[in-house]
Amino acid sequence: MKIPSVKGFHDVLPGESARWSQLESTARAVFDRYNFGEIRLPIVERADLFRRSVGETSDIVEKEMYAFTDRDGTDLTLRPEGTASAVRSYVEHAMQASEPVTKMYYFGPMFRRERPQKGRLRQFSQIGAEVFGRDDPAIDAEVLLLLDDLLHAFGVESGEIGVNTLGCVECRPGFRAALVAWGESRREELCADCQRRLQQNPLRLLDCKQKQCVALRPEAPKMTDHTCAACREHFDRVLELCAVEGVELVLQPYMVRGLDYYCRTAFEVVAQGLGSQNAVGGGGRYDGLVRSLGGPAVAGIGFALGVERLALVLEAQGAEVDKAKPEFFVAPLGAAAEAAAFSLTHRFRAGGARVEMDSGGKSLKSQMRRAGKLDAPYVIILGEDEVAEGVMTVRDMRARADRRGVAPLDADLATLRAALASAASVEERA
Ligand code: AMP
Repeated sequence: MKIPSVKGFHDVLPGESARWSQLESTARAVFDRYNFGEIRLPIVERADLFRRSVGETSDIVEKEMYAFTDRDGTDLTLRPEGTASAVRSYVEHAMQASEPVTKMYYFGPMFRRERPQKGRLRQFSQIGAEVFGRDDPAIDAEVLLLLDDLLHAFGVESGEIGVNTLGCVECRPGFRAALVAWGESRREELCADCQRRLQQNPLRLLDCKQKQCVALRPEAPKMTDHTCAACREHFDRVLELCAVEGVELVLQPYMVRGLDYYCRTAFEVVAQGLGSQNAVGGGGRYDGLVRSLGGPAVAGIGFALGVERLALVLEAQGAEVDKAKPEFFVAPLGAAAEAAAFSLTHRFRAGGARVEMDSGGKSLKSQMRRAGKLDAPYVIILGEDEVAEGVMTVRDMRARADRRGVAPLDADLATLRAALASAASVEERA
């Protein structure tokens, strides 16, 4: 009996993983330029870490965590996101003692028991970044520039960064009260979830996707009308710095983030090609979080991008992936040739070339077909004659030409490459 994969948990097959590797290596190069260091965080954490940071009333904690009790009675969970883990690690290793500003990035799987659909999985992968130790608007702008840079480096054409301010401990309570008062005045018209959450977590009213709540939104109070002078100044400066550097941001006065810990600058990236799940990434400032998880009063800001969604956007856009292909396909004909092909293949691989070899006495036709499928530019054909004469014949697939006896059978990689290049240039001149 076959054992299928689990709903919402997908394989990334060799054909698709090229795009993933490309996204990761591109991200690494960009993070390097902004002087971020990679952190590798564990997948299992104590469940309390997310209850205390993401928030008891968030969807993630209420219904989506893969939490379980370990054999020793400890409450554990597969991590649903990376920020809380990064903060836990920052506090645990007292990173503030060795560096006043810490900039880190991570790649890796996250787990949320959501309802699977296109672009929404139960195991998904994020590329994330966090900065600890700076609360000035210039670092918010630097993080937004970094995000914009990443999207461009990935080749995302339709990316749009939306921003809002969520206020601080000074001004958020006033906004919250205004929101509750407004929500209470329209209680009958809100969806059941929003009615329930109205007192506990009124900010969620603003990102509810139910039709009736979306319709009411234009009348809802806006955070930007309730910000204190300090938050206003901070936000204006972030916008100004980004504008000077030519990074386009879209003001979204009703954007709130699903996680409780955000304050001041919050942002979200959307792109086309995803259908209803159009968010590719998001993040924001979380100044109280380090303290609330037992660390010093150190500010923080970060974001996470979803790798599956980035891959979908790029695919929908028709963006090319650099597909790895062998430089040489070795096609032996007969037992003696096969032995020679085996060691030649090993020699060229050791020399640094990507080489594929067929075996099992297949016909030349079938080997050529496979070489064509793999898009190898050269096929090294070893028949009885070649082995007897101690030479190799190479078919140049692009020039559609056979180079008979182009190099000795024991030639090294450099000799063969040089012989092929000179054969091609002689032909070009002719
Ligand atoms: P969040 O941590 O919720 O802010 O999510 C950040 C990004 O992670 C989102 O914009 C998505 O690109 C991605 N993401 C979040 N949840 C999922 C999911 N269930 N499946 C796939 N990607 C997800």
